[in-house]
Amino acid sequence: MFDRSQQLFEASQRVIPGGVNSPVRAFRAVGGTPVFFREGQGAWLVDEDGNRYVDYVGSWGPMILGHAHPEVLAEVAAAAARGLSFGAPTRLELEMAELLTRALPSVEQVRLVSSGTEAVMSALRLARGFTGRSLIVKFEGCYHGHSDFLLVKAGSGALTFGNPTSAGVPAELTSRTLVLDYNDPQQVEDAFARYGREIAAVVLEPVAGNMNFVRPSQAFVETLRRLCTRDGAVLIFDEVMTGFRVGPAGAQGVFGVSPDLTTLGKVIGGGMPVGAFGGRHDIMACLAPVGPVYQAGTLSGNPVAVTAGLATLRRVLAPGFFDALSATTAALVAGLAKEAGKAGVPFSATSLGGMFGLFFRAAPPASFSEVMACDKEAFNRFFHAMLRRGVYLAPSAYEAGFVSAAHGAAELEATFAAAREAFAEARAA
Ligand SMILES: *Cc1c(COP(=O)(O)O)cnc(C)c1O
Repeated sequence: MFDRSQQLFEASQRVIPGGVNSPVRAFRAVGGTPVFFREGQGAWLVDEDGNRYVDYVGSWGPMILGHAHPEVLAEVAAAAARGLSFGAPTRLELEMAELLTRALPSVEQVRLVSSGTEAVMSALRLARGFTGRSLIVKFEGCYHGHSDFLLVKAGSGALTFGNPTSAGVPAELTSRTLVLDYNDPQQVEDAFARYGREIAAVVLEPVAGNMNFVRPSQAFVETLRRLCTRDGAVLIFDEVMTGFRVGPAGAQGVFGVSPDLTTLGKVIGGGMPVGAFGGRHDIMACLAPVGPVYQAGTLSGNPVAVTAGLATLRRVLAPGFFDALSATTAALVAGLAKEAGKAGVPFSATSLGGMFGLFFRAAPPASFSEVMACDKEAFNRFFHAMLRRGVYLAPSAYEAGFVSAAHGAAELEATFAAAREAFAEARAA
């Protein structure tokens, strides 16, 4: 069934480290051979062997309208025909900035970059430049891209500084990062009591999607807002995943808490490389060429990429879009939980907007340690059983899932039929 993918993977491993250009694609977490895709249409992917799959990865979030949306493609083709890049300002960048600042009231000014990693890296530098402080607070299980300062795990004690999670990151660079537990307001209180006026920024995923899917408690996000305001730290919501994914105003709209800076990516490029960071005018005014914090990019605001993003966002912001997407996603997780129940498998599932989490655990987790307590082996068996039946889930128990506007009743029915057998298989082993 996967012959061609197997051949391509073997050849790729000779010339690309691990055969992939981003580690999670290698299927190391679930085992087996990564599937090589040839094309996507709507909610469906086709691999190099000709197998068809209902796609719940959506390129890790961006493909919220489904693959190869004809009207988006037409706009992108027209933009490409006018030239691929100018390295000079375009009307499209203004349109994108106006759209983002309208959709996200906390974002008064915004700068475009080419990836989520760049967006968060730049927002951190800006927060440090603005405050003149160096300390950063992040939360275990949140991912913010692969920049040096953020590849960090908790130190040995509650309020000790972090250690690098990657070789090649000098310990000096992570020694100013405190790593706390997600959804633990008391730890944040303690950290601010001790270090408050040294903290440049608190950065978090306002719904965590890189340790599977974990909602913040209202108390957690409100505590962060209150303490950052009190002590003059910059609150950064990393909405690279949640922006225009959980709702039309991101997680900040859902929870009613305004960050000082917001980072964006994924959906705002509609499958092309676009990232952004923005927020309070007084903070953004510290950026070059206006202020002293340097940041730049040859391809930043690329006209073809921005066109894909604008074409996607206009449709995502149309009235009723999120009602429909949320209903589809809720129906998906309810149907999967029902099938698991019938098979007698300990399982739970939850969603927000077009994002969801599946857990081999009786209730959805609220913390990193609860995520880690899920039955990973059961997930891995389920993943492969679904894959063989034409359903493509994220190849790791620690990733969120995504639904697009192209997913409908037929896709959900196909998914439930596969799940009926897959849960039985997951249980049998
Ligand atoms: C994907 C992601 C990033 C990194 O974005 P890239 O475009 O992969 O560099 C950063 N933060 C969050 C929350 C993400 O989900």
